[in-house]
Amino acid sequence: MTRVTVWNEFRHEREDEAVREVYPDGIHAVIADFLDERGFDVETATLDEPEHGLTEDVLAETDVLTWWGHDAHDEVSDEVVERVRERVLDGMGLVVLHSGHFSKIFKRLMGTTCNLKYREAGETERLWVLEPGHPIAAGVEESVEIPETEMYGERFDVPAPETLVFTSWFEGGEVFRSGCCYTRGAGKVFYFRPGHETYPIYRQPEVQQILTNAVEWAAPSDGPAPSFGKHSTPATEE
Ligand code: ZN
Repeated sequence: MTRVTVWNEFRHEREDEAVREVYPDGIHAVIADFLDERGFDVETATLDEPEHGLTEDVLAETDVLTWWGHDAHDEVSDEVVERVRERVLDGMGLVVLHSGHFSKIFKRLMGTTCNLKYREAGETERLWVLEPGHPIAAGVEESVEIPETEMYGERFDVPAPETLVFTSWFEGGEVFRSGCCYTRGAGKVFYFRPGHETYPIYRQPEVQQILTNAVEWAAPSDGPAPSFGKHSTPATEE
């Protein structure tokens, strides 16, 4: 069974009444619930826990980590970021959500600014599937409408994705690469755009389907451990 740790900054929900109405127990609780219902072994972790809830032991027992952060990226300790990065290189999957584009871990893994355009005007988003054969698009319609969301627009300053599964169109005319797949070391990384904290986007069934697929896709595969360094010629048998 795939072990998932759902990480959330969990500040907006405690500090802002409008966000608390949408996610009374936190964004992580909603994500953890639907992943649990779909058969994953799910734990949650939040910023204000010791070591942000991401101790060596927790990460060692995590196959896929999902990450939602926004206001307090700078409060995530560099030590924990490095610990997560090493686990990703070692094979742990990472699913980065929405404003997590500016998290230390995502910027570190991408090596670019990860900057973008944004506008908070409750616009409609239409998420188009570009790769219908990709596992993250399984069970999803050709396009998914999100009735009200924050706009993110190009340019999104990330490396070209290895696979671009979704592109978004917004009412205001902008477009955005909303579902980006990467590999870093043995780990798979998926960035998924939708999910602003004042809209119930993680309660939408299509979004839950996509995130379920993303967690399955990002789970470690059982590949060989690579060897590095000076490599001697195999002894020839006489
Ligand atoms: Zn947002």
